[in-house]
Amino acid sequence: MTLVEQIQLLAQQKEEKIWQLNQKVWEYAELNWQEFRSAEATALALEEEGFTVTRNAANLPTAIVAHYGTQGPTIGFLGEYDALPGLSQQAGCPEHQVLETGAAGHGCGHSMLGAGAFGAAVLLKELIANGTITAQVEFFGCPAEEDGAGKAHMAREGLFQHLDAIFTWHPDSANHVMGTSTLAVMGVEYSFTGITAHAAGAPYAGRSALDAAELMNVGCNYLREHMIPEAKLHYAYRDTGGTAPNVVPAHAALHYYIRAPKVSQMLELFQRVNKVAQGAALMTETQVKWKVIDACSDFIPNRPLSQLLAESLAELGAPAFDEQDQQLAKKFQATIPERQQQENLSNSCLSSGLRYADYQGLALDNHTPAYIHQPQHAEMGSTDVGDASYCAPTAQCYLACCALGTGGHTWQFTAQSNSSIGKKGTIQAAKVMALAAAKAASSPEQLALAKQEFLQDVPNGYTCPLPAPEQKEGEQ
Ligand SMILES: [Zn+2]
Repeated sequence: MTLVEQIQLLAQQKEEKIWQLNQKVWEYAELNWQEFRSAEATALALEEEGFTVTRNAANLPTAIVAHYGTQGPTIGFLGEYDALPGLSQQAGCPEHQVLETGAAGHGCGHSMLGAGAFGAAVLLKELIANGTITAQVEFFGCPAEEDGAGKAHMAREGLFQHLDAIFTWHPDSANHVMGTSTLAVMGVEYSFTGITAHAAGAPYAGRSALDAAELMNVGCNYLREHMIPEAKLHYAYRDTGGTAPNVVPAHAALHYYIRAPKVSQMLELFQRVNKVAQGAALMTETQVKWKVIDACSDFIPNRPLSQLLAESLAELGAPAFDEQDQQLAKKFQATIPERQQQENLSNSCLSSGLRYADYQGLALDNHTPAYIHQPQHAEMGSTDVGDASYCAPTAQCYLACCALGTGGHTWQFTAQSNSSIGKKGTIQAAKVMALAAAKAASSPEQLALAKQEFLQDVPNGYTCPLPAPEQKEGEQ
């Protein structure tokens, strides 16, 4: 039996178990750092499959690491399981029908992401157990991808450094292997403290923290012209200092996101934004403190491993959607404006080399594009997979789990994350990653090439952009 035939057969045997894990996690729909039931369900499923599971990995209550095997190269799979606030939606339903008002939902498909990575780990374990390959497999249950950068915390504790290869995936509407980079990002809270006073009676006695926050934003808007063009700044008010116009606000706070193509550029920009905050405090005679909330690195796609993923995708093919799936996908597409479908596909097009027109007329993707290595292009988002990619050679694929043009973080995505469409994409993702991993594990040459490229890309090793807890805050 060929490797592909073995994986097809094993996947048939494990399919229901993989999908049941998705359904559990989808129903729990737990937010970042709160994924207690999701992590436990994943840990139990891994234990049933013979893995040794470490809970509370990296001292994070909802992080797990599972290990199987005793010899050979170590292959890691990254799973996630956090949901998004306010995206509750009925499973498989192509109309906006909330399950529970205000509740969280899997609008980014991380329930599938975790289950698919679990599936890949289980399939690889079976190939080790039946003597087809010699390797060790590790599954990482990574918390708080949406907000909190769980993998950066895990990377800081050295959980990924020993791996020979890392494979992961993300549910998408189009099949492709990611050859692009992502932006490094840092979330920082700036809190200003002033002196309150009667705004009409004694304004000269007051020092407005809100003025300082406003001036910081003005300063950053001027800073934009003098940043590298790919860098981005976004801000939101966390605290406007109160609701009474006749009181000088003694406190105000801003939440900044600082993004740049490389983590080193992001850290430089962070220092410049700090200077603007200091300037605003100086002008208003207030004090400013900053606190890093989270941070993650840019993604470095590893070419040899990514090529293995793309080859495996081509050999196994796109998920085999049936007529019923096509009809359901058309109903979802009908709820998304054409322009938005186009925008939602833009990152996929960048990676796959296909144009939007190539997808037109299709409800579900049937392409298996070749790999295009273009790390100089950064997608306009961020992921903490970046931190793993600074620790070991990493590759990431995307499998169609929803109608073409479905956007992430939407009710449509939540619905399809627990549908027959999502199921076929998730099982296919498990197979594609397991095949690529089995090929890598049985080819010392491929692993050596992956390592060689990794050392060229990350000559100075990994520096976690999350500061150590005692250095998280600064003030002026
Ligand atoms: Zn996601």
